[in-house]
Amino acid sequence: VQATYDYDLVIIGAGVGGHGAALHARSRGLKTAVLTGGDAGGTCVNRGCVPSKALLAAAGKVRELRTVERLQAMGISVRGQVDYDRQAVSNHANSLASRVRGNLVQSLRGLGVDVLDARGALVAPQKVELLKPRERTGERVVTARDVVIATGSVPAVPPGIQVDGKTVFTSDDALKLEWVPEWIAIIGSGYIGLEFSDVYTALGSEVTFIEAAPKLMPSFDAEISRYAERLLISPRPVDAYTGVLATKVVPGIPGQKPVHIELVNAETKAPVEVLQVDAALVATGRRPYTDGLGLEKLGVRLNKGFVPVDDHMRVLDETGAPIEHLYCIGDANGKLMLAHAASAQGISVVEHIAGNTSYRLRMECIPAACFTHPEISMVGFTEEQARAIAERERFELGKALGHFRANSKALAENHAEGIAKVLFRKDTGELLGMHIIGMHAADLIHEAANAMQTGIPVHKLAFAVHTHPTLSEICDEAFKAAAGMAAH
Ligand code: FAD
Repeated sequence: VQATYDYDLVIIGAGVGGHGAALHARSRGLKTAVLTGGDAGGTCVNRGCVPSKALLAAAGKVRELRTVERLQAMGISVRGQVDYDRQAVSNHANSLASRVRGNLVQSLRGLGVDVLDARGALVAPQKVELLKPRERTGERVVTARDVVIATGSVPAVPPGIQVDGKTVFTSDDALKLEWVPEWIAIIGSGYIGLEFSDVYTALGSEVTFIEAAPKLMPSFDAEISRYAERLLISPRPVDAYTGVLATKVVPGIPGQKPVHIELVNAETKAPVEVLQVDAALVATGRRPYTDGLGLEKLGVRLNKGFVPVDDHMRVLDETGAPIEHLYCIGDANGKLMLAHAASAQGISVVEHIAGNTSYRLRMECIPAACFTHPEISMVGFTEEQARAIAERERFELGKALGHFRANSKALAENHAEGIAKVLFRKDTGELLGMHIIGMHAADLIHEAANAMQTGIPVHKLAFAVHTHPTLSEICDEAFKAAAGMAAH
């Protein structure tokens, strides 16, 4: 006897991951419901990618107009002072978020997805209790042949740091742009910290980074982070403490009492300094939002809150075996905490459910970007990682560069700073990674990401013809150099 379910698919969480899964499920004809938990759009739309890119865009224009020498070199002068209205910039970010949120819900409803304004808790792998967003009591239970957890993440705040949301805050509050402090400490120099440094310095703040690792931007390719220091740190009112931890952060009162920050050496824990700043942004990473889902009752052992999954995103029980019909995608599984990775995982789950066993998402081909001015982007291994692999697997690593300074489009824009670096196997031409810093790097990285996804080696890529004059010729220069066809 075939069991009957209310839905083919129920998705818990309507962020980008849940949205991507739901749209793809409809394209495969699955009867689908999404539970929003009262937060349609999730982090990306409401407190992440969308409002942060709106702030970065506004801040970038202020910076561009205030960089008088760059404009003068192009024959442009700006009369009077370039100013901005903080409240209007904040409105720009927040109204964009609500527009995108509206589009997201409309696109789901338009395709026949049931959008339910409830929180979900698992009663069994195929049974979800619907809770009111702020209550614990269930209204009803829905059943589904398959269930996807897509509940995302929230900012992680280390012990000793008191967040008041006004003078000590996370990205959630920073995006509201309630004020522009004269001096702000940014704790953590990952991509979120860097992007906010770009915003705050453009709007007139001084920034002090506090980074536990021995260098800034510790997860980036080392050569790219050195370039980033030259372009994003040294020319700006930014200084940094590296190899230190902020062990105690006490909020202040804007304009009256400073924020108190105690720094210790990250290794020895010896006191380093006490800082008194106007504000502090805590950008020390994110933790999964899996509270109250009921996973432990199903025999799942969470890993620091992250849901363990296999390559098909099936949830694993404590013995490491997959729980049939229960999946987890996006930030909640911690594989790669990026919006497009969440929705790509949603698509791969639907393919798996639909019986496409040959499809496997290649996480290693998913690119990432930091939307500073200039941008930084990457796909695949860093040079340090690639060298270690080459040594272990005994092949010769190739490295080739393209330069923004040699590119007509970048020169015409008067933004000719940066490099594109490609890493490849010399024997087969297989691409192992690409790293770009320079204007529109976030768009350019797809030259390499698509080649890696489709398995095109550098000696074939080198014959692809690029429009002149475009920034894409910087990638072309790198691919040609990799294939031994360097023109420079
Ligand atoms: P989320 O988008 O967090 O969505 C999960 C949703 O599930 C939330 O609405 C949550 O409230 C809801 N939920 C939780 N529990 C339940 C429950 N029990 N029942 C129902 N619903 C529930 N990524 C990029 O790729 N590019 C960027 O430029 C970028 N910029 C960022 C900037 C900032 C400041 C931040 C904080 C993040 C940024 N990210 C960016 C990361 C990106 O936002 C996340 O990787 C992405 O949102 C993860 O998607 P998700 O669907 O897994 O989770």
